[in-house]
Amino acid sequence: MSRPTLATIHSGALRHNLGVVRRHAPHSRVFAVVKANAYGHGLACAARTLRDADGYALVELGAALELRQSGYRQPILLLEGFFEPRELAEITAHHLAAVVHSREQLAMLGELPAGAGLEVYLKLNTGMNRLGFAPAEFGAVLAALKSNAGVGRITLMTHFASADEVRGVTWQMDIFERVTGGVSLPKSLANSAAIMRYPETQADWVRPGIMLYGCSPFPEQTGAEIGIRPAMTLESQVIAVQTLKKGETVGYGGVFAAGRNTRVGVVACGYADGYPRHAPTGTPIMVEGRMTRTVGRVSMDMLCADLTDIPEARVGSRVVLWGEEVPVEHVAAAAGTVGYELLCGLAPRVRVVERE
Ligand SMILES: *Cc1c(COP(=O)(O)O)cnc(C)c1O
Repeated sequence: MSRPTLATIHSGALRHNLGVVRRHAPHSRVFAVVKANAYGHGLACAARTLRDADGYALVELGAALELRQSGYRQPILLLEGFFEPRELAEITAHHLAAVVHSREQLAMLGELPAGAGLEVYLKLNTGMNRLGFAPAEFGAVLAALKSNAGVGRITLMTHFASADEVRGVTWQMDIFERVTGGVSLPKSLANSAAIMRYPETQADWVRPGIMLYGCSPFPEQTGAEIGIRPAMTLESQVIAVQTLKKGETVGYGGVFAAGRNTRVGVVACGYADGYPRHAPTGTPIMVEGRMTRTVGRVSMDMLCADLTDIPEARVGSRVVLWGEEVPVEHVAAAAGTVGYELLCGLAPRVRVVERE
């Protein structure tokens, strides 16, 4: 048998989650955000399963071209736009839409041939202070785009910094409305957290990412708690069982010492599979259908689980690292990160299968 480390992508969950987006934002068109290999779920699989979305959004030009080559005709938005002028020919040839967020990009658009019809998402910086034009320069930039004969349709956009936190979006919404209120162009603002919590942000296009994959954008809730279903299960098996006497340690650094006689299952999954090395002893994990905890340090190819209270567990027992039974949000919280990072960090060596 091959190495048992396996990621299952649940297409039914992806479709269910798109339905949840639709119910929350019934009047908006939906860009399914499929950057970073669809948050680790596989671009081809996610795009196919989410083909009822109105468009796709991502950051990688190569992946956008793959979607076009696979026959997808929906709008495709490049969330960071272009990085050098020579990308523009390909972008316009394949009818990709590009975010324009900087003076440098604006200058590159000077080389755009008249009639190229480049669709632009003009980004306003409303306080995230990452990408986008300042409110004071927005009018002039919009005028420049409108007078550029190579630019086609223009949509106005911004991105929220704290839609998942108590700080919320109002402070950014106020700026967006003040600057763009009088402009009758389509608008796009909301990520997953804003879609769920702030319906006033939904506008013409929403941009859900993480919620499509069944992971909560909110630190205090799991996906299940907000009505979405995890689209990825990462599982493996116990490949060895050790019995530690009180005081003995397991794994690198001996950071876990048994406080009593302890049965330990060695699991074929480590940080080279995308499991977080920073997950400490006590991180939730499921063995043979029972919840338990990891013990000791996660290594490249293996980690250890406490089997002391699961006497039926043995070599070959199924282990769930995350998925429906073990919320990825809980594993991430234990490791000091977020579900986003764990999902998109799934390593290429992990076998991936798709299931309904
Ligand atoms: C990644 C991204 C999104 C999706 O965010 P989620 O929190 O995953 O829903 C939306 N908009 C932009 C600009 C992004 O970069």
